[in-house]
Formats: sequence, C-alpha cells, structure tokens
Amino acid sequence: MMKLNIQMFAVPFRKVSKTRKRTRQAHKAMVAPGMTKCPTCGEVIKPHRVCKHCGSYKKQTVVEVKEAE
Ligand SMILES: [Zn+2]
Repeated sequence: MMKLNIQMFAVPFRKVSKTRKRTRQAHKAMVAPGMTKCPTCGEVIKPHRVCKHCGSYKKQTVVEVKEAE
C-alpha cells in the first residue's frame, strides 16, 4: 500500500503570541484553600471535616485523637 505523507492530527493554525499565552495563563493563579476555625478547640481546620486536633465534628467528639509521640 502507498504511504501518504499527510498530517492526520490537529495542528495549530498559527503561533500563539506571548501576550495571548500570558493572558490565558492569567487565570491560572493558585487560590488559598477555604479554612475555618474549629468551634471546640479553635484550631484552623478545613470546613465540613472532623477536626484533626480534638476529633470533634459539630461540637461532638466523633474520633479519639491519639497523642503524637
Ligand atoms: Zn478541634
């Protein structure tokens, strides 16, 4: 069979300029994760998760926290 020298994949029509590339990247900034304070012990925790420091959730102790050695 004859081998055809055709590009069979999508090829960018033209070069993306520095400004266009940098304008697109302007929306890629990192965002700080949402953090709240534990109502029981006051430590900074992630929202909707059991507190790592006291093991409480909604002011109720759910998990026993082991002391770090
Ligand atoms: Zn806590």
